[in-house]
Amino acid sequence: MSISKLSPVLATSYENFPKGRFITLVVLRTTHSETIFRTEGSGEPMCSEFVQAGLEGENQKTIIQRLVMTKRKQVAPERRYGREHLRAHELLYTNPKDGSLCSLNTNAPCEMCADCFLYGFAAGGGGAQKSRIWTEDAFSILPASDVVGDRTINAIYENGTMRDEKGNPSTALNTSEYIKPGVHFLDVVTLKDVTADELRYIVGNILFTSRYGAVSSRVGRMENEILGVFGSITELPSSLELVQATYDVLGKPLEHPLNINQLITASKQVIANWKNKRGVSVQLSEEELASLVTDVETNWSEAERDNFLKRLSQSYESFRQVAPDKNKGKGKGKGKNTPVEVES
Ligand SMILES: [Zn+2]
Repeated sequence: MSISKLSPVLATSYENFPKGRFITLVVLRTTHSETIFRTEGSGEPMCSEFVQAGLEGENQKTIIQRLVMTKRKQVAPERRYGREHLRAHELLYTNPKDGSLCSLNTNAPCEMCADCFLYGFAAGGGGAQKSRIWTEDAFSILPASDVVGDRTINAIYENGTMRDEKGNPSTALNTSEYIKPGVHFLDVVTLKDVTADELRYIVGNILFTSRYGAVSSRVGRMENEILGVFGSITELPSSLELVQATYDVLGKPLEHPLNINQLITASKQVIANWKNKRGVSVQLSEEELASLVTDVETNWSEAERDNFLKRLSQSYESFRQVAPDKNKGKGKGKGKNTPVEVES
């Protein structure tokens, strides 16, 4: 039912050409354990940016350093989540060039699976598919200095202490920064020209992914909650504007950990105004949002998942036909996807 309310901005079937239909998901991402977002490898500082604290009054003049959850840090684990299920239901395709199964971060995407059609791919010498999931960096509400902890790991001597026989302290092995549990990031995810099943797939990936950043059995646990869904003919305010406006509503002084209910109320107050933004045609009510989540959970359930994923995969069938004759065996062929710019 809630899905049908979005029908003016949903595509009825997959097609190659964009038609200006936007669905915006407002996502609250909360760390539930120590979490580490670094650019590359260890030793790098946590990703952060200096930005205006808020949009109004003193907040507008105050610059704070916010933690950043980059686009890549959001999308990569969510893609992997969906792909695990595509793999389990045998819906990943073989790359015709080298016969390997579609995989991320290789030069050989299959160009035929739901993940390739939705999140895009850049193929070596052939077509490319632009991602229809537009993400942006998400920012922490509170300044990095409030929400980053660090710990120093010292070498332990054989006597089991951190001092040698002469009483000299051991040298620090390394210092590692981590994001504390209970840290909130607000995020705006924009979907372009997606079908109802594609929406279910993407929302499922967001709701069911639970580990982000540097992942181990101990760190990286996050919980995602969808606070709002909009349909429009244009993009809505950015993640940064959302976090700044929410910061204004929360008022001061703020301290980690924030009360999540107050935060949700403040964020919802901010996005309630988006209804009046230019180009917005639909905002799901609380009940409709809840029923969308139920719809997604039902389709992803043990009983329905196979049907759901196969139906989704089937929707691309006519676009993945192998082109006749000359490309045969070379693997370039399939219903030529629009050769568009490559999403980096
Ligand atoms: Zn693929």
